[in-house]
Amino acid sequence: MYDRLKFDWHTHTVYSHGKGTIEENVETARARGLESIAITDHGPGHFGYGFRRSDISKMRAEIDRLNEKYDDIKIYMSVEANIINPSGMLDVRPEEIELYDFIIAGYHFGTIGENMPASLSLHARNLAGSRLGRYSDKLIQTNTEIVVNSLKNNKIVTLTHPGDKGKVDLDEVFKTCEKTGTYLEISDRHRQLTTEEIKLAAKYDVMFIAGSDAHRSAMVGSCQRALEKIRAAGLDPARVVNLA
Ligand SMILES: [Zn+2]
Ligand SMILES: [Zn+2]
Repeated sequence: MYDRLKFDWHTHTVYSHGKGTIEENVETARARGLESIAITDHGPGHFGYGFRRSDISKMRAEIDRLNEKYDDIKIYMSVEANIINPSGMLDVRPEEIELYDFIIAGYHFGTIGENMPASLSLHARNLAGSRLGRYSDKLIQTNTEIVVNSLKNNKIVTLTHPGDKGKVDLDEVFKTCEKTGTYLEISDRHRQLTTEEIKLAAKYDVMFIAGSDAHRSAMVGSCQRALEKIRAAGLDPARVVNLA
């Protein structure tokens, strides 16, 4: 009971910087008895490993083909959009939203937003902050505003690895997720949310989702590290929408 995933809505493929194909991810998901899987490659605003906009129709066609081929699993086409702009605009343009079944989003280094110098400066300050373990109040405030505005301006199903790579005011972020109904990810791959952060988040009326964030097909559906954090935090597993 509550020791495996029902579905995994955070997986990467060769379209961004994952190692497996969409079908290989789906095969692992089926072997592990998942009800559904989402393909959530990195949004095109990422300089290093975002997928190309010209690949969107190819990815959709492949997912449609696999949904036809397999009747024991539902495959969603999603995107791990990049949170980068103070305006709240993601790297999924408003006219592109309907191309996806749903959107998840997080902050990543290497994303070029609406203002390139501002994006690069933000990444540099966050990179330095994470290396030194020290963030200025102003930087935390800037990061928090960007995340909060992104949550308010878009229908984001899951906020991925909250606070990872750029420190935020977690209370403000959790409060916003409470309002927007956005799931907080408990990552199997990233440190955030930590056990202590899960305890803090649990005080808000929010739901959680465990995500493998698999970059290799073999990791699809894996959740051991996420489960350890959930148990250590004493979080009611019923609040994690995809635990079975
Ligand atoms: Zn991510
Ligand atoms: Zn990811």
